[in-house]
Amino acid sequence: MSEKIYIFDTTLRDGEQSPGATMNTEEKKRLARQLDNLGVDVIEAGFPAASEGDFEAVKEISKVVENAQVAALCRASDADIDRGFEAIKGARYPRIHTFIATSDIHMQHKLGMSREEVIAAIKKSVSRAREYTHNVEFSAEDASRSDWDFLVQVVETAIDAGATTINIPDTVGYAQPEEFGDLIRYLKKNVKNIDNAILSVHCHNDLGLATANTLAGIRAGARQVEVTLCGIGERAGNTALEEVVMALHVRNSYYGFETNIKKELLYPACRLLSMIIGMPIPAYKAIIGGNAFAHEAGIHQHGVLKNRLTYEIMTPESIGRPPSELVLGKHSGRHACKQQLENLGYKLTPEQLDKVFKAVKDLADKKKQIFLEDLEALVLEEIYRIPDKYKLKYLCSISGNMAIPTATLKMEIDGMDEQISEFGVGPVDAVFNAISKLIGRQPKLVKFSINAITGGTDAQGEVTVILEEGNKTAIGRGSDPDIIVASAKAYINALNRLARKQEEKVWAKV
Ligand SMILES: [Zn+2]
Repeated sequence: MSEKIYIFDTTLRDGEQSPGATMNTEEKKRLARQLDNLGVDVIEAGFPAASEGDFEAVKEISKVVENAQVAALCRASDADIDRGFEAIKGARYPRIHTFIATSDIHMQHKLGMSREEVIAAIKKSVSRAREYTHNVEFSAEDASRSDWDFLVQVVETAIDAGATTINIPDTVGYAQPEEFGDLIRYLKKNVKNIDNAILSVHCHNDLGLATANTLAGIRAGARQVEVTLCGIGERAGNTALEEVVMALHVRNSYYGFETNIKKELLYPACRLLSMIIGMPIPAYKAIIGGNAFAHEAGIHQHGVLKNRLTYEIMTPESIGRPPSELVLGKHSGRHACKQQLENLGYKLTPEQLDKVFKAVKDLADKKKQIFLEDLEALVLEEIYRIPDKYKLKYLCSISGNMAIPTATLKMEIDGMDEQISEFGVGPVDAVFNAISKLIGRQPKLVKFSINAITGGTDAQGEVTVILEEGNKTAIGRGSDPDIIVASAKAYINALNRLARKQEEKVWAKV
């Protein structure tokens, strides 16, 4: 039997620090359930001391996760650790994840602490965490730029104090694969009590090496990897979960490791994240991008047609990518709808299913064929998009080369109905003018793009907008067969995200 690699997912914590990827509590709960189904071993739910909102989200996530451990990130202080455990104490398997910087540059310029003071802080914080749970992880922030012998001392101290997982992050994405593997080997060799803990790696993609460094860490002895769906994360992102899992799987004879991940749920999980945060997956993205399995060049196609193994190292089915074909029509029943949703990895309650099924019927009146992408968009619109502050109730738009583009709309703002009519240069401009006037905010429109979710002139339009207000930006997404309505939904979605972002919070850099 081959050894197991533990998958620690930090999409909800490090991933959420990705610019524009802020999620609300409902969205986080939905994603946490999907990660739990996917089979990740640990879900890092957030950084409870960062803000009131983060604390609540972590608490709520702890209640819905059934199988995975739920981790809370805490700085090395009593207050953070107490608050962190308070948020996860309802989880079935809670884990406290505490961290402090160990590189000279961070200790001097950020912490203003000596090496001795950092060692003392590690002893104190890990011991404090152990009073709550035996499941304690310690991270040496900026480990890859730390002095190796000091790091040996750091790790030894953390394990002595009771840490059961030791994470070695390449916080700033600086390490090179061989060098990073050597560091892990060095720790394995020189830390006396190393066998009492699991070594973990956490890499960033600033030089495009996150996956390579993570795999080098595994080869050198790490048994936990910290990853995010689609590799989202601050700056250039974190290590992509799907890349590491598939590398270990496709090259099993080389690595000889297993994971608990249900690979056929990889694609649905990544799609869900992309829909929630409103960022499309790039076509060329490894494993999950639109082109990842498209064999365009003539010679390749010829080979693939004769025998798929000539150029295909894995099948789209193995990661749960359905062929984009017609799935539902006007006459499809509730059962067919339920089946398709389950294939996509959604487990809905009967009431939620009713809601989605009604939306499917409504959409089928407007367009003939309903594709998987349409179905996903509906689930998100109907079930998981929680319009918090602003909601569109009614929209009428007039345009053409003989008319002054006009938008008349009704919105619910903090529970009150209000309506307005406005002009614009074009219909979208008129809608955006009307919305900003009605809610009394003037955010700057940084980006506006329209995509057809599927082919055909009756395809649903999917609109993405980016708004900027003060020093905050937010992405919004909306879909509808009418692109003007889709634009309004996207604009309002971004405004809701912007409103949510007004809460000040602290970011952790691990
Ligand atoms: Zn990180």
